[in-house]
Amino acid sequence: MPQPATHEFEVEMRVPALPGHETAELVFPTWAPGSYLVRDFVRHVIGLTVSDARGRTLARERLDKQRWRIQTAGRPFVVRYRVFAFEASVRTSFLDDSHGYWNGTSVFFHVAGELARPCRVTVVPPSRAGWHVATALAPVARARNSYAAADFDELVDAPFEIGRHETRAFKVGRTKFELALYGRCNADTGRLVDILRRIVTATGRMFGGFPFDRYLFIVHALPIGSGGLEHRASVTMDIAGLSFEDDAGYRRFADLAAHEFFHAWNVKRIQDAALARVDYTRENYTRLLWLFEGFTDYLAHIIMLRAGVTRERDLYRMLAEDWPKYATRPGRNETPLDELSYEAWIKQYKPSENFINRSVSYYERGFWAGMALDIQMRLATAGRRGLPEMFRRLWERFGRRGRPVDEADVRDAAAAIGGRRFDRFFDRAIRGTDELDLPALWRRAGLEVKARPEWDQRGKPPAERDDVRARRARAWTGIDLHPERMLVRNVVPDSPAWRAGITFGDDIVAVDGARVNPATFARRVGDNKPGTRVAIAYFRRDLLREATLTLAESPARTWTVTADAHAKAGAAAVRAGWLGMARR
Ligand SMILES: [Zn+2]
Repeated sequence: MPQPATHEFEVEMRVPALPGHETAELVFPTWAPGSYLVRDFVRHVIGLTVSDARGRTLARERLDKQRWRIQTAGRPFVVRYRVFAFEASVRTSFLDDSHGYWNGTSVFFHVAGELARPCRVTVVPPSRAGWHVATALAPVARARNSYAAADFDELVDAPFEIGRHETRAFKVGRTKFELALYGRCNADTGRLVDILRRIVTATGRMFGGFPFDRYLFIVHALPIGSGGLEHRASVTMDIAGLSFEDDAGYRRFADLAAHEFFHAWNVKRIQDAALARVDYTRENYTRLLWLFEGFTDYLAHIIMLRAGVTRERDLYRMLAEDWPKYATRPGRNETPLDELSYEAWIKQYKPSENFINRSVSYYERGFWAGMALDIQMRLATAGRRGLPEMFRRLWERFGRRGRPVDEADVRDAAAAIGGRRFDRFFDRAIRGTDELDLPALWRRAGLEVKARPEWDQRGKPPAERDDVRARRARAWTGIDLHPERMLVRNVVPDSPAWRAGITFGDDIVAVDGARVNPATFARRVGDNKPGTRVAIAYFRRDLLREATLTLAESPARTWTVTADAHAKAGAAAVRAGWLGMARR
């Protein structure tokens, strides 16, 4: 990286002699494990040259977008190229005068058929910049900034952070944890480290120890957070650096860290056959992303509770806020979870406007399915065993032994832990599209659950009541607007606006002849009662149109979830086991 401001990494790849092979096939990965989309990283490769050890150019033939056949005569050869690194995400690579970062599949070629060979990387930071290197790979003794990987899989599973990032380290037992924090951040770093320590301790306890000696958290503090990418002994997390102005900022950090760290087991070691043996050149289809992502999302919340990072009331608030979002998604019961997983490559990561109406994320439905299974296992065991114990079993019987899992193994593990089969649940919630009835399960687990129309003020403390406002929130169009512009983001199927023909991208300008903006649209709608006909004027592809629709009553509900003080002893035991209170 001699000129970081150009955003170009200069890469030199030295390949040893491959006796008996007249040609070698150079291959560039097309996707990053953990992020299920063909990304064609090779589009950022420029200036490719291939020469022998004496610098003579070797003949080559391009076979397709990501493969070259090189005439090597079995002798060592050198590949040189540059990578334009200007996408600041966990799964790509980035270089500027403040730091360099890469996720291996976006910078490294491999030689076809030679993935199992050991690799060695030497990083040459810009001269006199004072940059240092953070990676999970083991340093090579007496070789500056050199690191060793057992094979290509390990090489590209260890992202590199190079720059002037802040570093912190701590130990849990004999295992060393490091934090490399890049960017402008208004967090108290000591509190971030405390959160990480609590999260890794609680997770290690769940699995009975750590499957590595050293683990690295690479954290990028950026203008907006975009999530993480998991690896076997490290993670990269892109967070909103200036979002730590209240406790919620730290909770979001803890949630992301808990999710990613759980992946060190679930998906990086507890894997199905499709992900255990990665093909870097094409889609790798798995039917288990509900387990690897949805259940991980769910366990993150249990881990945060056990780590003391959140309290029960935080979980209850999350349930009350997130459940109605899911329970009103029109597409939540259209496609089975195993199918959503399989088609991640073409839907989850390439959503159409209609995704929200006709599909759902396997993270989201998988999250609620995980919670439903956990509660059902608790109900079957008087609160004593559930999803954490199921994962411990999957780890000990499969992950630790390098054996892949499939859905039948998960079903068997649930049965072994829960003391009975849960095939009905798997058939309906994972293979089927049945409604997940979490509120009914919460009640059986000792929670009190209430849902009230948003316009119903009864039961609210008088000081919080606003009858006029509430009454005006009753009329509903079914239009979901872009937050800052008057563009229609979605129209709920079968809603008044849907029936009137309003659709994605319509640019609304007036309600009943009065001009509206993002602040006044809801007010002009609220001037009317449900059942009233209103005229909506909008531009569609720059042509003015008008639709008349009959307002309906808002289906929105305000949920409250609390511990039921009058729960029977059995339900209270289920609750205590579920939320880990018995284990503190
Ligand atoms: Zn994940």
